[in-house]
Amino acid sequence: MVLSKTGGRYRIFCQGTVLEASLRGRLKQSAGSQVLVGDEVVLHRLSDGTSTIERVGPRRSVLKRRSPGRTRGVRHIAANVDRVVVVGSARHPMWDASLIDRFTVVAAANGLPVAVVVNKCDLVVEWDVLGRPYEKAGYPVVYTSVPNRQGMEDLRRLLENQASVLSGPTGVGKSSLLNALQPGLRLRTAAVSKRARSGRHTTVSAEMHRFGQGGFVVDSPGLRDIGLWGLEPREVAAAFPEFAQWTADCRFDNCRHLQEPGCAIVEAVTRGDLATSRLESYRQMLSEAQQAARPWARGKTR
Ligand code: GDP
Ligand code: ZN
Repeated sequence: MVLSKTGGRYRIFCQGTVLEASLRGRLKQSAGSQVLVGDEVVLHRLSDGTSTIERVGPRRSVLKRRSPGRTRGVRHIAANVDRVVVVGSARHPMWDASLIDRFTVVAAANGLPVAVVVNKCDLVVEWDVLGRPYEKAGYPVVYTSVPNRQGMEDLRRLLENQASVLSGPTGVGKSSLLNALQPGLRLRTAAVSKRARSGRHTTVSAEMHRFGQGGFVVDSPGLRDIGLWGLEPREVAAAFPEFAQWTADCRFDNCRHLQEPGCAIVEAVTRGDLATSRLESYRQMLSEAQQAARPWARGKTR
């Protein structure tokens, strides 16, 4: 498995050890077979002890980012990610459901399963209400506190035996959680976040870190610039996967769950089966996607 790449050098995790490899000449030529962090590759060991990447194995998933309102400019971040773990904090910074939902939506748009972590539970009394919208939506939710070690074993179980990406706002404790679980894991989280805040583009590629026995954690600056993600209007509802259990019951096949009569999503909110915040996030993101899809309509007055 490719752990990282720097220039033309790849760090590969292979049978319990890490070795370096370069691309075989022929592979270098074909643009479509770009090797991504997370890729499973076939190596050829040369007699001088060096290795070359011969072939890229089939991918279970590809984590991508793209620019709003554009279909061009898609960048592949990592291959074979199994799950996106969206982390937020109860306080400092305050839990912000609409922001957390942006992260869950990006993951869902990539076709990746989501789990939610509510961190810094030591700072508020009613921390358990924060994760409830996601429990209702069917996502695994873990409540954690680094100083109290609350939920740390649950989080370890969540991360073990698969490749996870931790995403979420700056300062919520992503690197603190990982360091508490596995001291010595050297993540770039803090430094990268600082750069992202200053608005500069980072071109640093993703890195995989081994976690526990069979797990991997992807450290990817590209995923934190959540504002840079663009969804087409028709993709927004699918990025709220829990909606699917009700949408067949909407009176109109093309219901957008806005003001239409007989909307089963609105009914689910009324019954308490769906959190109001999820519907609000959906409507906000649909509106943004529509704006991005028709930039010429913005600010037009007639
Ligand atoms: P990241 O940007 O998401 O990686 O956040 P950091 O791991 O850098 O943490 C940001 C700040 O929150 C640091 O000062 C941490 O010590 C603090 N912090 C992290 N987890 C907790 C927690 O569970 N409780 C409290 N009270 N503080 C935390
Ligand atoms: Zn509807």
